[in-house]
Amino acid sequence: MITTVNPATGESIETYEVLDANGIDRKLELAIRTYRDWRGSRLDQRTQLLGALADVYENRLEELARQATMEMGKPISQARSEVEKCASLFRYFAKAGPEMLEPRRWELSDGGHAEGRWLPQGPVLAVMPWNFPFWQVARFLAPTIMAGNVGVLKHASIVQGTAKLIEEMMLEAGAPEGLFQNLCVSSDPINDVIADTRIVAATLTGSEGAGSAVAAQAGKHLKKTVMELGGSDPFIVMPSADIEQAVEDAVFARIQNNGQSCICGKRTIVHADIYDNFAGRFIDALKAVEPGDPMDDDTRLGPLSSVDQRDTVIEQVAAAKKDGATLLFGGEKLDRPGAWMTTGLLTDVEIGSETGTDEIFGPVGQLYKAKDIDHAIAIANAIPFGLGSAVWTNDADERERFASEIEAGMTTFNAVNGSKVEAPFGGIKRSGYGRELAEFGLHEFMNLKTIVYP
Ligand code: NAP
Repeated sequence: MITTVNPATGESIETYEVLDANGIDRKLELAIRTYRDWRGSRLDQRTQLLGALADVYENRLEELARQATMEMGKPISQARSEVEKCASLFRYFAKAGPEMLEPRRWELSDGGHAEGRWLPQGPVLAVMPWNFPFWQVARFLAPTIMAGNVGVLKHASIVQGTAKLIEEMMLEAGAPEGLFQNLCVSSDPINDVIADTRIVAATLTGSEGAGSAVAAQAGKHLKKTVMELGGSDPFIVMPSADIEQAVEDAVFARIQNNGQSCICGKRTIVHADIYDNFAGRFIDALKAVEPGDPMDDDTRLGPLSSVDQRDTVIEQVAAAKKDGATLLFGGEKLDRPGAWMTTGLLTDVEIGSETGTDEIFGPVGQLYKAKDIDHAIAIANAIPFGLGSAVWTNDADERERFASEIEAGMTTFNAVNGSKVEAPFGGIKRSGYGRELAEFGLHEFMNLKTIVYP
């Protein structure tokens, strides 16, 4: 049994029966049978399904947003935006997907030509986290439909209600049963699912530990994987920046999704010339953020996703202090039921220390002073991760340097970094490999078959 819990109250929401080995086997059998039909579907059938799915998400927006907020605590306004973003993604693939699947042609030097055709491969397993419980699945689901593959989901245990809703909405949109199925399981049977010959590949979004376990098992069985893992992204502010806007966005970057976004700015790195000006405002603004009921439209910070997650962050703050960092304010547990804590800010974090290289998945920031651009880039890169980055500068030469020298899968200028429906997304270093979104995400689990016409 899996019981979901509302992190705002500590109360149980619902209990779900976990699938046993026979239940998993039945779902995998249905997946492979459905694939044998779906792989032959026309492109317009796939785009029509994507359009219908977007309609369902939009029609049920409020219900979906409330479900996510209830299960993992994100502010309701952000939950609504997440559902809207999923609908936009389905519509985007419905429009742009067919062109991404057009065959390629190469002229051969010995005469004749070769054609590259994008073909589906089979059922793909997706292991997904709770932090964007609709969006992470949509990033997998849209290309799965467009590719002619089928999907099997192992969602995070704490968002099983959301997982069930996604499965239900696919059927409502007219998908054949088995095109997308939720496996209500803990992570225990996942090794067997990966090993199963009916599963052709796996994608995981989550922590390094889970990524490493899934990638190792998939490697053993020679199955391709895409890994979207953690990060501790830099948020760099240079002297030419609009300081007021940069402060506002630095705060939002640290508290969005209650501090639990893989690509929100976790390490704020500020040029020495503007450090005092920026730091004073940033400290005041971050300190002023009050935790509130996530179901309220005006709330900017809710509880963390679970008591365990909150306690992990509290332990990281204690370890940081032991490590020599200074806690300027906050980072404290709130004494009430649920997974509540205040915002906090660390300075004097030693580069390369455990605190400096760990991901803090909660509303506690780190503030660094950089003496020049070289120093800012060096701090940004002094972590094992390489997911996203945000840089505030209006200097064209500086932009060029940041764009080419920050070791990350993404750099955004003068805005909070976030994934874009139309552009590829993914990381390097210990943040993972492979890409989601755009044609690169669509092609990850397809067979680019070469057909030679001599
Ligand atoms: P997590 O503990 O790794 O869980 C992610 C998923 O993996 C859950 O479904 C979990 O199931 C499952 N899992 C855990 N251990 C497993 C194992 N040994 N074998 C198979 N499956 C396993 O991560 P989280 O705490 O939910 O999410 C936070 C992490 O995700 C952060 O590091 C964050 O940065 C990262 N993230 C990355 C991206 C990106 O796009 N790169 C996006 C969002 C989040 P259970 O829930 O049942 O344990």
